[in-house]
Amino acid sequence: MSIWHEYIQRDGTLPEWPYQVNYGKVNEIASDVLVIGGGVAGVRAAISAAQMGAKVVLADVGHAKRSGSGGAGVDHWHGACTNPCSKVAPEEYTRGCYDSMQGYTGAHVRYIITNESWDTLVECEQWGLQIRDVRDEFKGAEFRDEETKLLFAYDYDNRHIIRVWGWNIKPVIYNEMKRLGVNIQNRICATSLLTEGGKQGARVVGATGVNTRTGEFYVFKAKATVVTTGGAGRLFQCIPELTAPSSMSDMTSAGVGHAIGWKAGAELVLMEKTGPISLSGFGYAPYSMGNSGNTYHGAPIVDANGKEVPWVDGFGQPIQTQHERFACGPGQKFQLGIGIGISAYLPQYRQNNPVFDLPERIRRGEFVLPLYIDLTRMSEHERRVLWGMMIGNEGKTRIPIYDTFNKAGFDPDQDLFQAPVMTLEAYANSCFWSAGMNTPPHIRTGGGSYMVDWDLRTSLEGLYAGSGSTAYGGGCHGESHSTGRYAGRKAAEYVRTAPDAAVDPHQVESERARVYASVRRNREGIGWKEMNMAIARVMQDYCGKYKNELTLKSGLRLLGELRKTELAEAFASNPHELGRLLECSSLIDFGEAMMHASLARKASSVILDFHRLDYPEVDPPEWNRLLSVRQVDGEASARELPLDYFLKPPFAPTYEENYKAHRGNSRSRV
Ligand SMILES: Cc1cc2nc3c(=O)[nH]c(=O)nc-3n(C[C@H](O)[C@H](O)[C@H](O)COP(=O)(O)OP(=O)(O)OC[C@H]3O[C@@H](n4cnc5c(N)ncnc54)[C@H](O)[C@@H]3O)c2cc1C
Repeated sequence: MSIWHEYIQRDGTLPEWPYQVNYGKVNEIASDVLVIGGGVAGVRAAISAAQMGAKVVLADVGHAKRSGSGGAGVDHWHGACTNPCSKVAPEEYTRGCYDSMQGYTGAHVRYIITNESWDTLVECEQWGLQIRDVRDEFKGAEFRDEETKLLFAYDYDNRHIIRVWGWNIKPVIYNEMKRLGVNIQNRICATSLLTEGGKQGARVVGATGVNTRTGEFYVFKAKATVVTTGGAGRLFQCIPELTAPSSMSDMTSAGVGHAIGWKAGAELVLMEKTGPISLSGFGYAPYSMGNSGNTYHGAPIVDANGKEVPWVDGFGQPIQTQHERFACGPGQKFQLGIGIGISAYLPQYRQNNPVFDLPERIRRGEFVLPLYIDLTRMSEHERRVLWGMMIGNEGKTRIPIYDTFNKAGFDPDQDLFQAPVMTLEAYANSCFWSAGMNTPPHIRTGGGSYMVDWDLRTSLEGLYAGSGSTAYGGGCHGESHSTGRYAGRKAAEYVRTAPDAAVDPHQVESERARVYASVRRNREGIGWKEMNMAIARVMQDYCGKYKNELTLKSGLRLLGELRKTELAEAFASNPHELGRLLECSSLIDFGEAMMHASLARKASSVILDFHRLDYPEVDPPEWNRLLSVRQVDGEASARELPLDYFLKPPFAPTYEENYKAHRGNSRSRV
């Protein structure tokens, strides 16, 4: 049985909690390297640390075999600049991202990624992932390299994005992690970082967690810890259990990894950056509607009368043929591709698209709704690689979309595939199913990441960050593998000479008391859902698109009061609810860090989508800098950094010198 309704129908009552509950029982586990979060980044961190001979523990709140955003698959792998067919060098790609973001991205992390992404993918292949057209299904296709049998996406000229058969990528890397003997602790919600002497800002010596099935407490003692817990997509969402998993988000994206670092005294950067939450559950199921963005790149859009929507290149110049949608026109250097963790593109790196003024053209009557994609207008190779290879392997598409549509009789050789009928502005972004315009504007997403150095070490000794959302400058799927792999390697290198980790018993005891407070109280308070809703409401109202000192200070006061009143009274009636409530506590910490950073930036910024009504001047030169926030003795403190802090002393002035000095043994050890 899978839903409560079936139990009620059969038994007339809810089932018993199916696991033995042991609140308060302490389990102590020691290792060289602890990895918190078992998404693709975490699993790769665990693998590379184990490959280096370290004793590794991985703790994940889900089950690491399928957990995280990449658990359901992947169809395209970005940034493989060193693959044998690539015409883009790592530094060119890095500069493309940095310049497009006007410097607001950790370009050192991008340089690491683009140097190692291909090796990282090849390792997956050696463990059993299909990354080449071994059955020659696409022989002769424009996007295939006949020698290597690699298939490329988006930019067929420059060949740095690789199409992969990634539906099983998570089990493949999970099995390798198991083979290497990593101690995998599933269903553990991390709750805090442990620091030497229990002091904020001191070396990190492990973490605590609670099992969300048994309720048991875990003390992880480790010489080094890698945080790879993903983002905080839940922060602004009132009813995330409906709007998160049905979209590109995840219930576990609760910012816990950031929050435990904030409390431990680590520096976080760009916490003030937010943006519209386009990939939320206010749109449509991922990839479920006709569109020509992302995986559907290149698909011809037609209107209700069969009239085709024209395309333009990155500069907005018309392009005529299907081939040109995947090629670079005059002035275009290469197409970076979307979904790489940056939010702005200079035209020379922007990808080709349907016309930008499609909303206006629909308004004028030039195109009649509804729109469709007409895959029959593509060559057979293009049609089959899109509806087949890509939709059959992308995350959350293999069963819900590909299988369901096929069983319902959808035939791409003859059928049109309808696009959603939306408010006209929404047609400006060709990824129609994400439908950002359907999301109310005060529901945002964002927050930054750990400030990391060339070792992907955070500002705290013993603490490393290695995923798309936790390391400043990360990106999407391949980037998360690559940063996780690098962070695990550097953590393992550190433990070779690091002193033993000593856990402070007082810190452990006080965390144990905090964790269990909600299961011991009477049920007079509220549950995690109401708590989550209250936090989201405060964030939407007081740290939404427009803010000033008064709203931010009010927001801080309200979050503080929520912690002291509602959270202090809230109850959890089983270990699962306990985990969700502890996540809410982290959401408050995350929100506070965001508000402190927003208070510290006293200017507005277009690239950061940051709007201070009391500081309306937009991007004044003196504010062209990065802000970091951290806690010192329990108080928030902020400091300014140059945007390219990673090329300033104590680091060398070039990407190459730093990378060579820090990378260690980067080659695959398969
Ligand atoms: C449907 C879909 C399709 C996508 N397609 C592509 C694509 O084709 N190409 C591409 O480049 N990118 C794609 N992405 C994005 C890509 O999958 C993600 O960027 C990537 O998987 C992020 O991996 P991660 O390990 O950094 O973080 P996550 O996947 O967010 O993993 C975080 C992990 O931390 C765990 N965790 C969270 N909190 C705790 C806690 N308190 N204690 C312990 N563990 C915790 C979670 O259970 C999870 O396992 C897609 C995403 C989705 C959702």
